[in-house]
Amino acid sequence: MTLDENMETREIIRKIALLNALRYGGKAQPKPVLGKLLGECPHLRGKIKEVTSLIGEVVQEVNRLPLEKQRKIVEEKWPELLVSEKVEEERVLPPLPNVEKYKQVVTRFSPNPDFVLHLGSARAIILSYEYAKMYNGQFFLRFEDTDPKTKKPKLQFYDTIREDLSWLGCKWDAEFIQSDRLEIYYEHAEKILKDGGAYVCVCKREDFQEKVRTKQPCPCRDLTSKENLLRWKRMLNGKYSEGEAVVRIKTDLNHPNPAVRDWPALRIIDTKKYPHPRVGSKYRVWPLYNFACGVDDHIMGITHVIRGKEHLTNQARQEYMYQHFGWEYPEAIHYGRLKITGASLSKSVILQGLRDGLFKHWDDPRLATLAALRRRGITPEAIRCLIIDVGPKTADVVLSWENLYAYNRKIIDPAANRYFFVRDPRKLTVKNIPHAFTAEVPLHPDYPERGFRSYEIEPEKGEASFLVSNDDTDLLKKGRKVRFMGLFNLQVEEVEKNLIQAVFHSESYEEAKKLGAPLIHWILLNSGIPCEVVMPDASTANGVAEEACKKLSPNELIQFERFGFVRIDKVNKKLTVYFAHR
Ligand SMILES: [Zn+2]
Repeated sequence: MTLDENMETREIIRKIALLNALRYGGKAQPKPVLGKLLGECPHLRGKIKEVTSLIGEVVQEVNRLPLEKQRKIVEEKWPELLVSEKVEEERVLPPLPNVEKYKQVVTRFSPNPDFVLHLGSARAIILSYEYAKMYNGQFFLRFEDTDPKTKKPKLQFYDTIREDLSWLGCKWDAEFIQSDRLEIYYEHAEKILKDGGAYVCVCKREDFQEKVRTKQPCPCRDLTSKENLLRWKRMLNGKYSEGEAVVRIKTDLNHPNPAVRDWPALRIIDTKKYPHPRVGSKYRVWPLYNFACGVDDHIMGITHVIRGKEHLTNQARQEYMYQHFGWEYPEAIHYGRLKITGASLSKSVILQGLRDGLFKHWDDPRLATLAALRRRGITPEAIRCLIIDVGPKTADVVLSWENLYAYNRKIIDPAANRYFFVRDPRKLTVKNIPHAFTAEVPLHPDYPERGFRSYEIEPEKGEASFLVSNDDTDLLKKGRKVRFMGLFNLQVEEVEKNLIQAVFHSESYEEAKKLGAPLIHWILLNSGIPCEVVMPDASTANGVAEEACKKLSPNELIQFERFGFVRIDKVNKKLTVYFAHR
């Protein structure tokens, strides 16, 4: 091949390898890559040897990249391939209503940056994102941070939310921050006051509530728009203090839900006392949720709002405002509640747990925050599959962790290499070993091409010592025969408190099968690395991981054989890993 041909072929291989890697949890396989390449470029059939070594190189390069990075490259360079892959392989969401009414589907995710996101938020994100993609539309991220007092945003959460979205692979086409948009809300407030769709109410809260409960207007409702605008100016220039005036949207006072009747749209917050983390004390009049959200959905051209059914009342409120402005309300899809057994998806419950010291941090493994799931090695692909599977159905859904694990296992099992971890180690000595052995254990039994972990056993006077797990006590009773995985078969002779004595039995795996000897894992005494496993209930399991684990790096997902899948968290003198699932 000429240099140019070589470069060109390399790029085609890279494309095929990346797609293959995406399909198999981040690890491309050389063989299917070769097959696909020869299908695409039949002229290479005469150059198998050159091509094979090229594939070997490229596959290695690709497999060194984390899965998110692989997906990103494909998204950027060959987005059309990703689309066709999806159609082939994945479940699809039910269609959105009235798509044909709009030029382009536009959805949004609009969190208040006052806390981290959890599995429930992932549903809003993934559905909104996927629907936008499905219809070739746009997906926006909008920070709804207009309550510096009771739901005060925190600067750090703007970034953690962006990180979570990126991690989920939900790239947003535009970002808005409501605290940058106060002038826009002021303009709309002025307009709706001028047009008589709203009024500035200066009644005491209790007095207003009493009126509205009995479906009566408060005295402010019938002010002229001139008077309202005068009061509005006073709100803005500080003549009223916090709690003294509020802009209310006129609704039907007979609406069955009192909470909908003449709902508050903008109020005063003493930002000298409660400064906003982004804009400090610059503004004192702040829109409430429904006003800011409703105005923005219209201005931003949101066509489909996908959110939980707890927002149904908000829709009822906002529709009055839309009428006053002469706007058309977007299509709204309200899905049911999502619960996961054993973990709270309620922000307030999680916050209380953090305050009480029950959870050390919001990535505590007992929580279903995205940070916690990520730390445990739950992949964004698994979350995505789960959410798409549940879809936007209106019935409540109760999931078990096992539902999520099943998706995750399918994704990481082909990618995760295998290693030995001996929990609660006990010493075991084997006598009568006839000669030196080299144990070769495959990194992954289904993919022998990935290679082996290999350990030399050099007996002294026929004897060698190992560590085995206390979990295998039942298999290591006197007289029992077991096979050390990848090594040899042995028979237990004596079980003492601090030592198990055994004798070499035979070498072959076939022999072990004949004997019915169970396979157990092991580590050579005085080798390996101390290892702490953080379990889903936040307890820890301690032991030793095999020598090869010293070379692992943070974020790798591996399987400890006969123990479970884990994510590497830290590698120092000690290995710290988080347990994902079995
Ligand atoms: Zn009033």
